[in-house]
Amino acid sequence: MSTERLRRAREVLQAHDVDALLVGPGADLRYLIGYHALPLERLTMLIVPARGDATLIVPQLEAARATAAGASARAELVAYGETDDPMQLVVEHVVAGDDARLAVADRVWAMFLLRLQARLPGATWVAGSELMQQLRVRKDADEIAALRDAAHAIDAVHAQIPKLLVAGRTEREIGRDIEELVREGHDDVNFVIVASGPNGASPHHETGDRSLQRGDAIVVDIGGTRAGYCSDSTRNYALGPVDPAYAEIHRVLELAQQAAIDAVAPGVAAEAVDAAARTVIADAGFGDAFVHRTGHGIGVDEHEAPWIVEGDATPLAVGMAFSVEPGIYLPGRFGARIEDIVAVSDDGCQVLNAAPRDLVVVDA
Ligand code: ZN
Ligand code: ZN
Ligand code: ZN
Repeated sequence: MSTERLRRAREVLQAHDVDALLVGPGADLRYLIGYHALPLERLTMLIVPARGDATLIVPQLEAARATAAGASARAELVAYGETDDPMQLVVEHVVAGDDARLAVADRVWAMFLLRLQARLPGATWVAGSELMQQLRVRKDADEIAALRDAAHAIDAVHAQIPKLLVAGRTEREIGRDIEELVREGHDDVNFVIVASGPNGASPHHETGDRSLQRGDAIVVDIGGTRAGYCSDSTRNYALGPVDPAYAEIHRVLELAQQAAIDAVAPGVAAEAVDAAARTVIADAGFGDAFVHRTGHGIGVDEHEAPWIVEGDATPLAVGMAFSVEPGIYLPGRFGARIEDIVAVSDDGCQVLNAAPRDLVVVDA
């Protein structure tokens, strides 16, 4: 990672008439300088001034990690000792003066922000969300390549799931096996959802102690981080025999997902992609059973802008990457969701996942 992202950040700050951006541990920090900082009660803060070099303030005991991550090549590293006052260091490095206009990135903890506000009573505070979104929402070719690698890594996990699905095994046992598989192709496992039978009707079901039974449908939604970029993919499995009603909702979802993918193009509103999927599902009579948005952006975070939902009129642009994940949930019975990641291209989009989307029937 070069300092190109910091250069773009300075441009955005100047355009918004902001003197400096303050960033804490989390995706924004990883995005800007590649440092995966621990979120601690000890302050870690990157200060990006609109003009001049960035400063990373870190606790002394984290300085080696920050240096190893290459942070010192991108920002001036200022390490403080256990008895030093890190807030004073921030104040000193916000060079714009007492009446500075400061943008605060979303994940700066309230305990730090409140202390800073007390130290800089003349400053104006603005949310950094929009600035960071502007920087992160359109991915460059390297980022799309990283998202594709992550997508292929998660595809490889889905390919191995059928053999784990055996009647009598619990969701938790299967979930642990899946975690191992996700770890093989990723640096971090972000989440593993195994929702069997009626549990499938809860989109974010907590993988639990239910044992698989013949005739179950199983929703598997998994994601990890590989080289800094996230994967996220859902497929549906069934232990035969398959309930014909389940095969029917799966067929509707395949059509809905394809309709949404076909709707993606530069200039199209994010909400139009949601509408494309929703119309197919509503026409099939399951409108009330599609209880969430069609998708979310993905990048250094699992969930980020743009939001594929009614009310988000963001015009899609080349380089935006997001999930397309329509679902149908019938409480007490079963649920299904098909999820792939797409990236907007000049003439539509590329689907980054390559795993077949069909319902996979396992004979148990
Ligand atoms: Zn989700
Ligand atoms: Zn998702
Ligand atoms: Zn997902």
